[in-house]
Amino acid sequence: MDFNEAKIRHEELVRIIEKYSYEYYVLDNPSVSDQEYDQKYEELENLEKEFPELITKTSPTQRIGNTVLEGFTKIKHAIPMMSLADVFNEEELLDWNEKVCKALMVKDVEYSAEMKIDGLSLSVVYQDGILQYCATRGDGSVGEDVTSNALTIPSIPTRIPLHGRVEVRGEVYMPKKSLEELNKERQLNNEPLLANARNAAAGSIRNLDSSVAKKRKLDAWFYYLEDAEKLGFKNHFDSIMYLKKLGFKVNPEMKVVKGKDEIVEYIKKYTLKRNELPYDIDGIVLKVNDFSYYNTLGYTAKTPKWAIAYKFPPEEVVTKLLDIVYTVGRTGKITPNAVLEPVRVSGSVVRRATLHNEDFVKDKDLKIGDYVTLKKAGDIIPEVVNSLVSRRDGSEIPFKMISNCPVCGSQLVKIDAMHFCLNKNCPSRNIESLIHFCSKDCMDIDGMGERVCEEFFALGFIKDIPSLYNLKDYKEKIIEIDGWKEKSVTHILNSIENSKNNSLEKLLFGLGIKEVGSKMAKQLAKMFLDIDTIMSKSVEELKAINDVGEVCANSIYNYFHDEHNIEIINKLKEMGINTKYLGNTNISSNSYFFNKKVVLTGSLTNFTRTQASEILENYGAKVSGSVSKATDLVIAGENAGSKLDKAKQFNVKIISEEEFVKILDELQGGNL
Ligand code: NAD
Repeated sequence: MDFNEAKIRHEELVRIIEKYSYEYYVLDNPSVSDQEYDQKYEELENLEKEFPELITKTSPTQRIGNTVLEGFTKIKHAIPMMSLADVFNEEELLDWNEKVCKALMVKDVEYSAEMKIDGLSLSVVYQDGILQYCATRGDGSVGEDVTSNALTIPSIPTRIPLHGRVEVRGEVYMPKKSLEELNKERQLNNEPLLANARNAAAGSIRNLDSSVAKKRKLDAWFYYLEDAEKLGFKNHFDSIMYLKKLGFKVNPEMKVVKGKDEIVEYIKKYTLKRNELPYDIDGIVLKVNDFSYYNTLGYTAKTPKWAIAYKFPPEEVVTKLLDIVYTVGRTGKITPNAVLEPVRVSGSVVRRATLHNEDFVKDKDLKIGDYVTLKKAGDIIPEVVNSLVSRRDGSEIPFKMISNCPVCGSQLVKIDAMHFCLNKNCPSRNIESLIHFCSKDCMDIDGMGERVCEEFFALGFIKDIPSLYNLKDYKEKIIEIDGWKEKSVTHILNSIENSKNNSLEKLLFGLGIKEVGSKMAKQLAKMFLDIDTIMSKSVEELKAINDVGEVCANSIYNYFHDEHNIEIINKLKEMGINTKYLGNTNISSNSYFFNKKVVLTGSLTNFTRTQASEILENYGAKVSGSVSKATDLVIAGENAGSKLDKAKQFNVKIISEEEFVKILDELQGGNL
């Protein structure tokens, strides 16, 4: 992006953020989710990092909160009420911790770890023990005098046993139960429901009619004592415990943590526990505990550098569906994909999500231009949950499944719920096959990742699997391309040469036969030992193999009886690619594990699960994932759970990892 483009985007973002801030801070009625706001804010921050000339005093990154509501008396804060810097995942949080430790030149530092209460901050000021006023944060320098509303919260003390000026800060919030009751009542009165507790609390405390706040049963946690150091405290945690003694409500989940492990443990605990708490939290706050470090760390225009807010990854976020584009898989399967306005979900920025097939898009009633809810399935794969029909403005474009391959133009064929391009020479199918063939679990050709495959394919250096083994003819041409050096090209060419010696199962998986995953490829290779034998088997013979059903047997048979595929295999053989199984083939029927159905459970210290399974299979065992009456043996590592209980219930023989190793030693010594 050049400066002019950045300037235009900057203006656009400032306008959007100002609109959202006004709705949120002034009207207490946001039109977008916090994540949508945070994402725009982060984009603005990044833009200003890249083009610092764009920063102005009025930029949202330099200002706290928003304007003060008319109707309330303005209060100038003696010490500005700042905001907190945000991080959105564990890695960013630990980086921040490292930066703090580095700045303080210490190995680890103590933090007060606290709930980040989702409410609004309140300053309560006392003079000679008597409450003077309660104020909102406002724009950080000037807040609103909301004393009469805040005093509807019974837990705020009106008197404290301290002389002089004392300022205590905390968060006003609406307990989940109060929000529930309030919404029930509003429903009965046909009034619009309040979307969340934060806005309900803010709307109540900043209402000119204090009978509203009273009805809404607000509460407050206190987390800051101004000038605590002057009052003789050395650290934040002790000052908060003192607040508790004075009669302020102090959150019981506060804890002092030190070092990476304790930080992560605290975060993990409350990520799980947050839904059980009777109030909303939107993250965790870490504050350096020792006051003597505060000056060294300092402040930005908006936030102290000795504290950080870790925001929980949103379970669901809202973004815009910009387009639907199609990809062609290596089997020719056509997948519609959502092109999304980039949005952060569960710690990473998502731009695309699979829409699986035509029915999926139709069931979800997705139109291009829709606002959609997005989540990460299993916290990894982005998934479009639904479209927000109420946010449509009529400009959305209805979805219509394509009828021709987006790459080669062939007519698509619908098989069950899926559409396929059946053109075997479709460039997109070929490139996907090549990426799969080179991948780690297949031929493991180091250096030939997705990007490189695409680059060489586009340049015409490779066009299908066999052509990969002729890539060496293009060595000089590749070296001439910007970014390539003799060393990296040689490395790739050597990896390609080495892959010729792979055992059969790697080739079988790499060929991309439908229904044949890495486990099935291994089973076939072990059973038939070379590719010619597999090619000669009938559907019935294939079906006789354990785990091979009708569909899989047909798929293997059809693959090896297709002229195009036979040609590929013949070419590979001519080029010297090994087509034989190279693993252990002389399984002794005398081995302890021979023919035993074995289950692994718990964590092993000497092997990974895959390694242990491979060893067992090499000794003729059949390794299974679940315990049944038919199981012969369970190998139990540390912290074994339900599988171990089941094994005991079924009286299955159980051995420890230690015993397993001992048996292996004896097997290798030839005793068993
Ligand atoms: P913030 O909410 O990210 O963090 C600062 C605030 O956290 C403090 O002012 C304090 O009120 C609160 N807090 C809660 N527990 C605390 C604790 N234990 N110790 C210290 N402080 C604690 O920053 P912000 O400037 O108040 O608000 C920005 C956030 O508000 C955005 O990240 C966004 O999530 C939300 N927002 C949303 C919209 C929208 O349109 N949806 C608009 C503007 C802002």
